[in-house]
Amino acid sequence: MPAAGSPEVDALAELVATACQVMAEQDLVEHVLGHISVRVAPEELLVRCRGPEEAGLAYTTADDIRRVDFDGTGDLGGWAAPNELPIHTEVLRRRPEATAVVHAHPPAVVAASLLDDPLRPIYGAYDIPAARLAAGGIPVWPRSALITSRDLAGSMADALGDRPVVLLRGHGLVSVAEGPPQQAVARAVQQAIEVNRLARMTLTLRAAGGTPAAISDEDLAALPDLGGPFVVDTMWRHLQRRLAC
Ligand SMILES: [Zn+2]
Repeated sequence: MPAAGSPEVDALAELVATACQVMAEQDLVEHVLGHISVRVAPEELLVRCRGPEEAGLAYTTADDIRRVDFDGTGDLGGWAAPNELPIHTEVLRRRPEATAVVHAHPPAVVAASLLDDPLRPIYGAYDIPAARLAAGGIPVWPRSALITSRDLAGSMADALGDRPVVLLRGHGLVSVAEGPPQQAVARAVQQAIEVNRLARMTLTLRAAGGTPAAISDEDLAALPDLGGPFVVDTMWRHLQRRLAC
C-alpha cells in the first residue's frame, strides 16, 4: 500500500478531486453535499473533506482530499471529515475488496428512491452497463437518516450487501467499486451516473403515464459485458474531456 505523501497517494488525491468535479459536471451533486473516498491502506482512506474555503464539489482540489483512518482521525489540517464518513468506513470495513466509495444526492435518484418499485432494467442496448447493473438488483435502504454512526452505516451496508449500488430512500445513493484504486474511483462514479440516468428515464416514463417494466430475460442475457477498458477507461476519458470544456 502506498505511503502517506508518496507520489501514488498524491496522484490518487488528484484523481478523487477530479472525480468530485465530474460528479458536479454530471449533475450528480447540486452544490456542497457529497463525497468520494479511495482506500490507500487496509484501514485508511483518502476522502473528500470540508475545508475552510469550502465552495462545493465542482471546485474540489487535491487539498480537499485528506487521509484518515476508520475512526476519522488523520492528516486533516484545517479540514473536517464529512459527517457521513461512516458510509465509507463501514463499507470498506465490511468489503475488503472494495477500494472506492461514492456518496451523492442526485435529485432524480432521490425522487426514484421514493417509488415503491424504484429501478428496473427498463432498457438494454441503450446503456448496457446500466442494464446489467439494474438486472443484478439495485437495493433500497429504507431509512432517510443522515448516516453519522457505525450502526446506521452498518444497516445501510446490510442493504447494499455485495451489490455495487444502494439507493438511500429520500436521501441519495452509495456506489462501491473494487479492484485497482484508479479504475475503482472511475467505475464508482460511472455507476452513479448510470443509476442517475436510469432514474431519470424511469421518472420520465412514469410522468408520461407509462409503467416501467424490465426488458426480457432473453434480451438481458444477450447483452455483452463490454469489459473494463471500454466501459471504465473510455468513459473516464470522455468525462475528463467534458470537464476541460
Ligand atoms: Zn448524504
